[in-house]
Amino acid sequence: MFVQSSPEVHDVIVIGSGAAGGMAAWNLAVNHGARVLMLDAGTRFRREDFWTHVKPWQWRERIEKGMSPPKIQLDNKEQPYSWKEPNKFDLIRVWGRGGKTNPTFPF
Ligand SMILES: Cc1cc2nc3c(=O)[nH]c(=O)nc-3n(C[C@H](O)[C@H](O)[C@H](O)COP(=O)(O)OP(=O)(O)OC[C@H]3O[C@@H](n4cnc5c(N)ncnc54)[C@H](O)[C@@H]3O)c2cc1C
Repeated sequence: MFVQSSPEVHDVIVIGSGAAGGMAAWNLAVNHGARVLMLDAGTRFRREDFWTHVKPWQWRERIEKGMSPPKIQLDNKEQPYSWKEPNKFDLIRVWGRGGKTNPTFPF
């Protein structure tokens, strides 16, 4: 982990840059003039790695070549989560800047 000391003082620290953290930070900064520091524990995704702008036929070609879009969600077998019966739920977790606002594919 890289830790950088900063002399800056912030009004608010938002932890997590997903939809919730992003909107909270934006609202506090833009509408309330707060100095906001956003922290995220996840990786920095590269836009060009996503297939969001790939045409449908190119999708097919890529799949036929054995390629697959990047899987950015955590593997629930490697990093399981727990629940109490009968409240089982499906959980998709993304550790990366932007969280689940980035394209996740269920395969
Ligand atoms: C396949 C899929 C499709 C979806 N489609 C839609 C849709 O069409 N419309 C819609 O409204 N919603 C949709 N959603 C739901 C929407 O994406 C989520 O509800 C929303 O993104 C959740 O935002 P969040 O900020 O709560 O969490 P996340 O987006 O998960 O963000 C959490 C952030 O916190 C960070 N973090 C986690 N732990 C730590 C830590 N300990 N310290 C620091 N940072 C940490 C993560 O890296 C991540 O950036 C979809 C979800 C999925 C999975």
